[in-house]
Amino acid sequence: MSNVNISNLKGIVGDANVVDTSSEMAKFLKGQGQPAVVVLPGNTSEVSEIVKLANEQNVKLAVGGTVVDTEGLTGGIAMVMSRMNKMIELDHANLVAVVEPGLLHKDFLLNVAEVGLNFPPEPYEVETSSIGGCFAIGDADSKSFEYGPTRTFLLGFEMVLPTGEIMEIGNKCIKNVAGYDFIHLTVGGQGTFGIFTKLIVKLLPAPEAKLAVLGTFSSLRKANDVFHTLIQQNVLPTRMNLLNAALVPKAIPGTEGQLVLIDLQGYKASGTNFAQKVASLLSVGGATNVKIIEDEAEYNQVIDGWLNVRSELNAKPDSVLEFTIGAMKMPQALAQLEVLLGGLENYPGVVVEGLLGHVLLALPEGTNKRALAVDVNKLAMSFGGNVRGLLGNNLKSEVYNDAEMWNQTIGLIQGLRQKFDPKGILNPGVSLQA
Ligand SMILES: Cc1cc2nc3c(=O)[nH]c(=O)nc-3n(C[C@H](O)[C@H](O)[C@H](O)COP(=O)(O)OP(=O)(O)OC[C@H]3O[C@@H](n4cnc5c(N)ncnc54)[C@H](O)[C@@H]3O)c2cc1C
Repeated sequence: MSNVNISNLKGIVGDANVVDTSSEMAKFLKGQGQPAVVVLPGNTSEVSEIVKLANEQNVKLAVGGTVVDTEGLTGGIAMVMSRMNKMIELDHANLVAVVEPGLLHKDFLLNVAEVGLNFPPEPYEVETSSIGGCFAIGDADSKSFEYGPTRTFLLGFEMVLPTGEIMEIGNKCIKNVAGYDFIHLTVGGQGTFGIFTKLIVKLLPAPEAKLAVLGTFSSLRKANDVFHTLIQQNVLPTRMNLLNAALVPKAIPGTEGQLVLIDLQGYKASGTNFAQKVASLLSVGGATNVKIIEDEAEYNQVIDGWLNVRSELNAKPDSVLEFTIGAMKMPQALAQLEVLLGGLENYPGVVVEGLLGHVLLALPEGTNKRALAVDVNKLAMSFGGNVRGLLGNNLKSEVYNDAEMWNQTIGLIQGLRQKFDPKGILNPGVSLQA
């Protein structure tokens, strides 16, 4: 049963920003839980008032950029941040943006690109991700080797704590933390330490040139050998990615074979030289249809095709196995994976983000994912990684029968979470135990 006092909520945000009919609520929700109400705050003090109310009434509250995950939320409040979508300040001189968390990542990119700036992090869900969601998850992506993962772009924030208090931390300076780094502790907390209401974000100048080099290979082994050559020669581009033949036509219609996609972002003159070197290494490695793409529209089409395929796979977590490893070990890891699985070419999907050390495998129907995960995890761990590549993976502790290590890690995290949120109000579905 719900204790939510809906008229109190309406008093805080106005009737128009409270949704409590199940048909209208559905478009803001995902998952099996049944919250009592969806609320869309318009500013920080409204967020604070709502969280205080949830505390007083002992009601669970979960937050989302445009859609809220309802796990553990039955009878509670789903808070959608999409009205808090303002670019508060674009400080070109300091290469910093101050932004509300509900602004969509894609709109944020357009805003900064208009003034010649760049925000490199690139979430899987490029169309729907909010800036607040990107920092609350702490995304890492194909370009993170060169630019750093999402967290490195956070200079500070305003946050409503689980008690409803408002906290501000950080500023526009790069050097703004010595000692405990609370700014980045919150990244990846998935809203369990508090709700971001303002973010201070580091930007970069837009690269002068973006080039792509494509090559297709008759076998995954040959494509993988080229990764090896590039690494050996210290040719480390912005992205060094691979798609297996099953996915290539979806990314670039009309293209066949195993595709290597090299992305080069930087200065035009050095980029062109670099692209020629990469193209010749691809050709020597046995690629056909080697192509350097300089045209901006074509470049964007290729990158978008790649992002769409990755996002499609990511949307089916039950049939996908992902793992990470130390990035420079990718060629060896892929070779061993081919042996383990008896070939990868005909797999329904293989997406490799080479310099992220990340592989997404779409599994054939009927695969026992759990059993495979144990084997793949052993392989990944031998290359310094693990399955999923997330915090303290419990599969790791199971494989090595190290329950003590696992319980210790989880105990510390749970203790920390309890300090922030003594009543366990915020984001009840987030386990932080992936
Ligand atoms: C565990 C996990 C790991 C992921 N790792 C990656 C990755 O490495 N790379 C990648 O590209 N994609 C990753 N994703 C996908 C990721 O969800 C999207 O890429 C995207 O960043 C989410 O944006 P969103 O606005 O849709 O967030 P939502 O789905 O709305 O929210 C995501 C999480 O952030 C919280 N949140 C949202 N807004 C706020 C806010 N204002 N304040 C506090 N918390 C908030 C939510 O409660 C939720 O826990 C991951 C997803 C999960 C669940």
